[in-house]
Amino acid sequence: MKFLIVGAGFSGLVAAHRLSNAGHTCTIVDRRPHLAGNAHDSHDKAGVLIHNYGPHYFRTNSQRILDYLSAFTEWHPVDYTIKSHTEGKYWSFPINLNTFEELIGKPATTADFEAYIAKHRHNIPDPKNSEEVILSQVGTRLYELFFEGYTLKQWKLHPRELDASVCGRIPIRTNRDDRYLAEEFQALPKHGYTALLENILADSPNTSLHLNTDFNEAREKFPHDHLVFTGAIDEYFGRKYGALPYRSLRFVHESFTAEQLIPREPISGKSGFWQPAMQVNYPGKKVPYTRIVEIKHATGQQIDASTIVREFPDDWDTSKEPYYPIPTPDAAAAYKKYAALAEAETNTTFIGRLATYRYYNMDQVTGMALAASEKLIKRFA
Ligand code: FAD
Ligand code: UDP
Repeated sequence: MKFLIVGAGFSGLVAAHRLSNAGHTCTIVDRRPHLAGNAHDSHDKAGVLIHNYGPHYFRTNSQRILDYLSAFTEWHPVDYTIKSHTEGKYWSFPINLNTFEELIGKPATTADFEAYIAKHRHNIPDPKNSEEVILSQVGTRLYELFFEGYTLKQWKLHPRELDASVCGRIPIRTNRDDRYLAEEFQALPKHGYTALLENILADSPNTSLHLNTDFNEAREKFPHDHLVFTGAIDEYFGRKYGALPYRSLRFVHESFTAEQLIPREPISGKSGFWQPAMQVNYPGKKVPYTRIVEIKHATGQQIDASTIVREFPDDWDTSKEPYYPIPTPDAAAAYKKYAALAEAETNTTFIGRLATYRYYNMDQVTGMALAASEKLIKRFA
């Protein structure tokens, strides 16, 4: 069987790998000039390995997905730790016992923090949105300090308009565990995501990749029996029910030589770095960006230079990348109409973050692509 696969991100490349190893022929196209989709990483002019489309922290609770990917990469273990910067100082974040001590300005115990929470948390048994989910855990002061402004900037929506899962995915702890993420396995592919996905492609027989190639051009050029589509579902259907809402981002890069970094050492406390952590969030309403990422902290690259990337949330239109589906009830309802059309398409399989309009992580889309490929392999056996 001949498969045409649109999108050379995790979803498309994993699907091609499984299908081609089951004896099928795969043609992959991507309109961008590189593979790996939003997980693409590369060395910039300063020689620093950067994540081109925002920081990508690999993590998973799935041994099956970890085993699958581990055939194509070694891992560089990272405890992803970040900071928040607001009211003129750095804070430990996500909220933990250190954050509480910073708030009250003196040493405290877990019992002290739990007593604070018991006194200040709002009694909301079943939080229905992103405001309620944080208020119900820590109360107004910590919600306003860290979540309200950040979320307004990021989504141009109030937290109470957003699904509880948006802010609810940030852990809140009363001990001193300050890791940003909760999953069991947290590490970066040792040589980056692009190298990992290149290895997957290299292990895919009878597979060709055509970059700078849009689906509109490819659908005629590459005859196929079945299509696997990992692009935006509303675009596939000509936006016949209107465009789904997305949020975009603008990334502003700045590189520093070793000499430029020296005067900043008192800020970072570490030489060769610009800021004290791989990511610093800026929840304040007056700062126009949401975070500054200095990925060298996480990659462990040994290089004197460093690069920081400021992330400015941006309104989306069709000339921009649709980075985030918007998790509101209205958007979910609009997506359902397209999902019904997708369901009726027998010769196309829709997988991945854009085609299912869900803010999935890399491990989740890998799992989705593995499952969809197994189904297709059985169907076309
Ligand atoms: P994509 O990576 O979006 O790949 C789809 C590809 O299809 C793109 O390359 C696109 O150019 C191509 N395409 C689309 N339409 C067409 C068309 N019509 N014709 C040709 N080509 C087309 N995940 C994590 O696990 N951890 C993180 O820390 C993390 N951080 C993130 C930070 C940001 C800022 C963003 C935006 C995402 C983050 N993610 C993170 C999510 C991660 O990027 C996705 O899970 C993953 O990239 C999804 O892979 P995909 O193949 O489904 O989609
Ligand atoms: N968030 C926040 N303050 C922060 C970090 C996150 O309010 O300091 C909220 C915000 O709404 C954000 C969501 O939590 O969109 C999820 O944060 P995460 O860091 O997981 O976002 P991503 O990396 O996916 O952009």
